[in-house]
Amino acid sequence: MEKHILVTNDDGVTAPGLLALVAEMKKIGKVSVFVPDRNWSGGGHVKTLDRALRVKETRLADGTPAFASDGAPSDCVALATLGFLKEPIDLVVSGINNGANLGHDVTYSGTVTAAMEASIAGIPSVAVSLELLENHVSDMDYAPSARIARKVVERVLANGLAPEFLLNVNVPYLAHDQIKGFQMTRQGLRVYHSRLDERVDPRGRAYYWIGGDAPTGVAERGSDVGALADGYVSITPLQLDLTAYRALSEINTWNWQDD
Ligand code: MN
Repeated sequence: MEKHILVTNDDGVTAPGLLALVAEMKKIGKVSVFVPDRNWSGGGHVKTLDRALRVKETRLADGTPAFASDGAPSDCVALATLGFLKEPIDLVVSGINNGANLGHDVTYSGTVTAAMEASIAGIPSVAVSLELLENHVSDMDYAPSARIARKVVERVLANGLAPEFLLNVNVPYLAHDQIKGFQMTRQGLRVYHSRLDERVDPRGRAYYWIGGDAPTGVAERGSDVGALADGYVSITPLQLDLTAYRALSEINTWNWQDD
């Protein structure tokens, strides 16, 4: 039976990374596209409960039919899986994001949290992000990362992945023959260089902007940051169980008797 793949993203319906991903996914299954109608980068895991969500039928630049909603990426996955799409979905693929999602980025990332929403729906998922080089000015070439996304999805479909797991895939910005291979990694350490800018608006009121420089990371071997720095595709299996097991045993040793 042909697999039904739901493709979503967080850069919005016009993103070139989406177009490249959809083209590759069409080679392996039936593709439905359900994406936000605008850029939601950094939007995190959202569940819109306080307003109506609208869905528009549209087309991607190559003519592929797509649904675009005014909700977050995770809302798009919720809408699609809760009954908007009538056919059962075998796999959710999110991306290809403009910029890596490494370490602590995963809870900020609309790309990754869309895949997390698939876990909640009981569907295995893959999030794909392409490293963004500093000072990169020309259009990004998503073709190598889209081919890698297809390889990963083919492996997932061939081997099976439990629905509580998602794969966070990060691709280095290199030509296809310069990518060294795949590394299975743990979530690494992102280092943020955020700075709060306080400014004054034309009416004399203060406003704030979270600015600063782009995040860096600690390039440890075995981590997502390290793999990317060494020219490998990083594949980190994630789950929504955020329990800190080491802390669990530690806080269990505290005295919890009533004083
Ligand atoms: Mn994005």
